[in-house]
Amino acid sequence: WSALEEIDPEIAGIVLSERDRLNGGLQLIASENFTSPAVLAVLGSTLSNKYAEGYPGNRFYQGCEFVDAAERLAVDRAKELFGANHVNVQPHSGASANLAVYAAFAQPDDPVLALSLPHGGHLTHGARINFSGAWFTAVPYSVNRDTEMIDYDEVRELARLHQPRIIVCGATSYSREMDYAIFREIADEIDAILWVDAAHIMGLVAGQAIPSPVPYADVVTTTTHKTLRGPRGGMILCRTEHAAAIDRAVFPFSQSGPMMHTIAAKAVALQEAATPDFRTYAHSVVENARALSTALEGHGMRPISGGTDTHLVVCDVSALGTDGADAETRCAQANILLNKNAIPFDPLPPRTPSGIRVGTAALTTQGFGRDDMSVVADLIAAAVTAGKPGERVDVSLAEIARQVSEFVADKPAYAVEGI
Ligand code: PLP
Repeated sequence: WSALEEIDPEIAGIVLSERDRLNGGLQLIASENFTSPAVLAVLGSTLSNKYAEGYPGNRFYQGCEFVDAAERLAVDRAKELFGANHVNVQPHSGASANLAVYAAFAQPDDPVLALSLPHGGHLTHGARINFSGAWFTAVPYSVNRDTEMIDYDEVRELARLHQPRIIVCGATSYSREMDYAIFREIADEIDAILWVDAAHIMGLVAGQAIPSPVPYADVVTTTTHKTLRGPRGGMILCRTEHAAAIDRAVFPFSQSGPMMHTIAAKAVALQEAATPDFRTYAHSVVENARALSTALEGHGMRPISGGTDTHLVVCDVSALGTDGADAETRCAQANILLNKNAIPFDPLPPRTPSGIRVGTAALTTQGFGRDDMSVVADLIAAAVTAGKPGERVDVSLAEIARQVSEFVADKPAYAVEGI
């Protein structure tokens, strides 16, 4: 750290400012978390230098004995933690992991069945502006209009009609558990690959706060930086019969040199995720999300599907006389960071949708508990309605920002010097 301060004070200053930003606000972006100082230490280590194309014991470079050991540890820890037959820890990101799954199992133009983007699916699940929608034929399924939960009858119907090569089960802004057994049944009926994209929820699975998709899926992809609380990156878990296809699809098909510092950091995070502390953490994340959902509802922000089973809540904010984009901007001005989000069958356009998405993974890492969630909801409601006709709380956004900094002051995300 002192070397950085000396050599590049400008970047050192930016790093400190970012730490202060994290410490000074309410970080409610559902895909973010605060990884541990141990993980950050490995990310800034000499392992960053090593080229290691290939897999442990079979590299295209010499001098890989130590990075081999790190990658083996990461793989073994992930296999043990999730009960997986085979794990590939090399994907640079969630999107890279997903690209490898398409490469392993589908040919260009093949139909792929996945949750539609406006109902909670991810860009890599068939959006036209993404490789997945450009190279494959997306068949989107939806949520039920009344329950706002996945319409399994529609999934089955579309599967029979289109005979997709891959069925994707997973989401980026869907708060409910998914019924993996039904998805498995449907996939078996049409002999499709069942792929669970568990990017958001794999930390909750690790902490046994929600059921695991691993026993049901042919392949599971995840990010390592969301609820799993590791470094930015991706990971693929699969059944033994798919191991060779997945490994080839990552290297050499879609990636070359793996990031060995990140892989070692994944190993550290996986070890942390196997502890009783992490189990307590994962359960608290879900408890906090449920409490936050109830508290937001109390302020007129209706939780989609009536609540949550996970770390995230999507709320309709239109009853407060605003839209998600306006709510997101106002909250940001009060140092409350969250996302605007479409709600199912949203009457408003994607850039100014009716909803917001909040997550509790980061706040819970800081040590906030269930009782704090009503304060968080009060602060969000105050920011969303400040200065509006009929507002509940007659304060400015600057005053709410001050209340936010007071609220978070004794639970900093990072108390450590220099990161
Ligand atoms: N899959 C899902 C379900 C996600 O929510 C995300 C990220 O938000 C990704 C994949 C992509 O992850 P990354 O941003 O690491 O590429």
